[in-house]
Amino acid sequence: MLRFILEVLAVVPLRAMQLTTILNHGYHFPRFVYPHARFGPDQKSIEIAVRPREGSAALCAGCRRPAPGYDHLPERSFECIPFWGFLVFFLYSMRRVNCRRCGVVGEEVPWGDGKHQLSKAYMLFLARWARQLSWKETAEAFHTSWEKVCAAVAYVVTFGLQHRTLAPLRAMGVDEMPYAKGHKYLTLVYQIDPHLTRLLWVGRERTVESFHGFFTLMGEELAAQIQLVCSDLWKPYLQVLREQCSPALHILDRFPIVSQMNKALDEVRAAEAREMARAGHQPLLKKTRWCVLQRKDHLTPQQKFRLRDLLRYNLRTVRAYLLKEDFPQFWNYNSPTWAGMFLEFWCRQTMRSRIEPMKKIARMLRAHRPLLLHYFKARKEFSSGVVEGLHHKAKVTMRKSYGFRTFRILELALYHSLGKLPEPELTHEFF
Ligand SMILES: [Zn+2]
Repeated sequence: MLRFILEVLAVVPLRAMQLTTILNHGYHFPRFVYPHARFGPDQKSIEIAVRPREGSAALCAGCRRPAPGYDHLPERSFECIPFWGFLVFFLYSMRRVNCRRCGVVGEEVPWGDGKHQLSKAYMLFLARWARQLSWKETAEAFHTSWEKVCAAVAYVVTFGLQHRTLAPLRAMGVDEMPYAKGHKYLTLVYQIDPHLTRLLWVGRERTVESFHGFFTLMGEELAAQIQLVCSDLWKPYLQVLREQCSPALHILDRFPIVSQMNKALDEVRAAEAREMARAGHQPLLKKTRWCVLQRKDHLTPQQKFRLRDLLRYNLRTVRAYLLKEDFPQFWNYNSPTWAGMFLEFWCRQTMRSRIEPMKKIARMLRAHRPLLLHYFKARKEFSSGVVEGLHHKAKVTMRKSYGFRTFRILELALYHSLGKLPEPELTHEFF
């Protein structure tokens, strides 16, 4: 196969094109040469020899300055981007240098680093694909292992976190994300400025201590620049935000309120359905779960019919449903005064409903009335869907099978797909 390819390439009138010619053309390093390329012993891989260019001193990996040689390590391989069905390896004997500043250390090589089996170009290549596909699919597509894909993503993310700039930061959102089983949560912090939305930070747990970690990373100066914060009603978040960015306008994210109402409604429906079954009534609430939880415009014609039928009955579920459906009007007001009046009206109605899960929500909304009304002050410069959008992207990222669901893996996957991190630069654009 390769011979055939080389023959075809030889038609190029300039000269017979060899692999090393292509490499010298696109992936050239002044301090190194490619003396030859050959098939590996299995005939399924290509080995490309690399040597230091004569007379060029090795660079110390510690300080990146030329240093006198010390010794050679045994030849090792760096896996490169495979092509035309062949795995490709660079073979090189790493030198050690005796650096005046750093002592005896390994040399710096431009295509890889001492710790990784894969070349930098290949890691970037795999990591880019791992953003489009799941990690498992990426490993399968390029005949490599899940672990190598994971190492590639870790390399690119580590580089990105070291090289990103955090300032300027005006608006941020805090979001909680369930993961694994057994009520474990991550805290995600996003930048939600109009010119840049990205994931800034992933925290273990959703406690005061863990959320403080974000502000430690930011530093006081950057935290002081924040003008707007958006969060849900989780107490530790509210507390830390009060402590760390009290001058910022604090608004509540709409989405968690909607989902809490849905949860309350679901509770009411399930309890009432059980009661009706126990009392031997007609099972009116059977198959109504999605009819009441979904947004109306997402219902199938059959579900719409089911819902219309259900609404004729005087059930707690129906009353809770009507309250839930009524609430979103709140967000449509322009004036905080009218919005405030609507809020009070809705809460009063709900408190009279004698439906405890809904009353709980009314009490919670009342307790956070000022925060809720901040929404109307901030609306002009902030689109409330941003946090919700990022939340869904994060969920999709986590749902794709990333293998072991450890915190570290989730953290990598999230930074990788939502962090908009800078990537290492290559001298050649492999695609
Ligand atoms: Zn050094």
